[in-house]
Amino acid sequence: MSNIPPLDLARQYKLIAEDVSVAVEDILASGRYIGGSVVESFEQQFAAYVGVKECVGCNSGTDALYLALRALQIGTGDEVITTPFTFFATSEVISAVGAKPVFVDIDPEMFNLDINQITSAITERTKAIIPVHLFGQPMDMTAVMDLAQSHNLFVIEDVAQATGARWGEQRVGSFGHIGCFSFFPTKNLGGFGDGGACTTSDSAIAASMRMLKEHGSRRRYIHEEIGINSRLDALQAAILQIKLTHLDTWNEQRRKVAENYHRLLKPISGIVTPQEIHGSRSVWNQYTIRIVSQQTDADSLGAKRDAVRNSLEQAGVSSMIYYPLPLHLQPVYQDLGYQVGQLPASEQICHEVLSLPMFPELTLEEQEQVVYALKDCLG
Ligand SMILES: *Cc1c(COP(=O)(O)O)cnc(C)c1O
Repeated sequence: MSNIPPLDLARQYKLIAEDVSVAVEDILASGRYIGGSVVESFEQQFAAYVGVKECVGCNSGTDALYLALRALQIGTGDEVITTPFTFFATSEVISAVGAKPVFVDIDPEMFNLDINQITSAITERTKAIIPVHLFGQPMDMTAVMDLAQSHNLFVIEDVAQATGARWGEQRVGSFGHIGCFSFFPTKNLGGFGDGGACTTSDSAIAASMRMLKEHGSRRRYIHEEIGINSRLDALQAAILQIKLTHLDTWNEQRRKVAENYHRLLKPISGIVTPQEIHGSRSVWNQYTIRIVSQQTDADSLGAKRDAVRNSLEQAGVSSMIYYPLPLHLQPVYQDLGYQVGQLPASEQICHEVLSLPMFPELTLEEQEQVVYALKDCLG
């Protein structure tokens, strides 16, 4: 028995190490480390992959979301609807541009925004919706776009965890006005450092994001807005270009790992396994199960899940909790006035979720060890 990590990036690196060395040396020898033809060609390839006209590379998924909001001129006095069950960056950028995040509860079966609860959260100040395709599972983008259109709202997709996933025939990140991607190493398409991108088919929006990410400048040393400095490095672009050619294969391997888990976990009671929503093709950035518990008193919430996690750790299996506290109850958002119990599905799920080891190179033997350990501690 060996120790099983939540993910192992070194295994993937070995597969592409030679190609990466050549590409990196080319960049180092070229003397062009910022911008240049590699960044441009990666942007074009990535836009084609997602199925949009334009891609604007930037420094991170967080910057991508920030640039998207700024380009749509969302700021003070505006409201943006999103999910409380996501990584903090999603709402952080809403606050960073001066707008107010409005949290709508999730559908616990898919971990994403509950489409039926969005309408009642829309006010005359609402400017946009940010759906998050959490854990690689796409939202119903037909329903989101219909709803947005009927209320005249922008849609910014947070695709950080779902690069390559599809809703129907189309890849996510191509439905909304803007798609925001992260190339953080643990994402489905991850660089060897930070990176991100915005996708859009609207050339005016793309031009605006390009201007904003370059200090609000379209012409050198002429500044028309307060922007930021956010670049996708040439080195990262060269590495991502290589990895992009493998992405579909790696995502298929993740789907296979998910299928194995579904099969192996079926006989185990006391857990809920994640489902792929009909009409979607998930890319399984995470395989997140729920450890169900009947506990309701405040002190025991999450106790069963935490005990399972500890037992797994003892058996050499590392699992993760994404996420332990919903965003509407974060200390920084106290002044938004949310109460405990207000978004019950999100709050409940934070006490139940456990993400099992998931990466394309995970072997069946390792998965069997994970499930064996889980069976053992669930009795
Ligand atoms: C990772 C992530 C981000 C932020 O991406 P960074 O590249 O780390 O800035 C935003 N939203 C979600 C859902 C993420 O998982």
